[in-house]
Amino acid sequence: MKDLIIIGGGPGGYVAAIRARQLGMDVMLVERDRVGGTCLNRGCIPTKAYYRNAEVLRDIKRLQDYNIKGPIADLEFDLEGAQQRKNEIVANLVGGVDKLLQANRVEVVWGQAHILSSSQVEVEGNIYNTRRILIAAGSKVLEPPIPGIGEEGVVTSAELLEMTSVPSRLLIIGGGVIGMEFAGIFQQFGSQVTVVEAGSSILGQLDQELVKRIRVFIRRQGITVYSKTRVERIERQDDHLLVTAVNEKEEKQLEVDCVLLAVGRQPCTDDINLDKLGIELENDGIKVDENYCTSADGIYAIGDVIGGQMLAHVASEEGKVAVERMCGMNSAVSYHAVPSCIFTFPEIASVGLSQEEAAASGLDYRIGKFQFAANGKAMTLGETDGLVKVIADEKDCIVGVHIMGPHASDLILEGTLMVREKMSIE
Ligand code: FAD
Repeated sequence: MKDLIIIGGGPGGYVAAIRARQLGMDVMLVERDRVGGTCLNRGCIPTKAYYRNAEVLRDIKRLQDYNIKGPIADLEFDLEGAQQRKNEIVANLVGGVDKLLQANRVEVVWGQAHILSSSQVEVEGNIYNTRRILIAAGSKVLEPPIPGIGEEGVVTSAELLEMTSVPSRLLIIGGGVIGMEFAGIFQQFGSQVTVVEAGSSILGQLDQELVKRIRVFIRRQGITVYSKTRVERIERQDDHLLVTAVNEKEEKQLEVDCVLLAVGRQPCTDDINLDKLGIELENDGIKVDENYCTSADGIYAIGDVIGGQMLAHVASEEGKVAVERMCGMNSAVSYHAVPSCIFTFPEIASVGLSQEEAAASGLDYRIGKFQFAANGKAMTLGETDGLVKVIADEKDCIVGVHIMGPHASDLILEGTLMVREKMSIE
């Protein structure tokens, strides 16, 4: 009899497994693919590896700005090589997680897990008994019901990461974080990128002032964005795809070579037997209480599978907290201070309330701003696009920090501490 069986070895599941071992539990982790989950294998890490390629390409195109002269015409971008580099980074990290699990003596069982009851899990025909189960099954690509999404050349983010040639014309359905990161990366790789977003704005969850600015920078990079526009259908025509998109004013016919589906992700809840176990859903994710316990006693869930902020560090933190609470500890996730980073050009990083959220929650808020254009370090880098925006409540307590500009994803750490520790402006 195990103390805990964890289903899914992503950043939620593997961190939970290690924490459970540290707290003295007898733990088994079940994974059907590779440890590291979406984040390491086809999410955060591969995209950030490609982002670095894109950054270098962008710098090369601007060598003259730094007075480095000479022909760059002989240079060419080798996507297969970049892919190999990415795969090596991923393999290295996956190997690291494997070793961590071994070092912490977590038993890993490979295969698809099926929950039979709150004390039994079946994997590849074997039945394992346990005191508790933690579901960390993650999420999958949401496939919109658009006629033609099955056509060759219509891909998910995982498939785009495996392509060996750069599509000349890439159309991205969805202007959220994943869509806009790929837009920036593939535009630098040489694709002509068009983003079609059904909502009124790209990156809709961000502070709107930052959205307005990033739209300008994105346009300047040559990326076309159609917002309030819906893709109606996709058709294959000889060597290209014809995408029909409509908005209030017109119908557009867009000829492209590749279409990326990036309308969002949905929790992986369909193959876990939820109905039979009496596990309820809420907003498509598994419903949990403050202990991450589902509506079935003894079955817990964390990470993307419970919806909410689908981020790797949130999954890890929830995994750690869920296990600690199983052991009677009073830990909690600081949901008010979760940093999120967007790897566009320039980077964007945010923590806490946006100005719109501060207004909606009735705060008598104050705002402080500083432009990178007036910052010495940014000038020396030649990266002056963007700003830092700090939002404080009526007691001068910092409730939101938003950074768009060079190294935003590194700088946000300070903002996260300020918001998490409820620091004053002083
Ligand atoms: P997952 O990482 O999805 O892991 C779930 C695991 O469970 C998988 O390995 C799966 O094989 C396994 N599994 C599922 N069902 C079963 C079963 N029945 N039996 C056995 N095994 C099972 N987040 C960030 O914080 N920063 C980023 O920069 C970032 N970039 C991203 C870019 C892309 C393109 C994508 C798609 C996602 C990105 N994310 C990013 C989100 C991040 O990847 C997820 O939030 C994170 O991986 C969720 O962790 P998880 O452990 O909940 O689930």
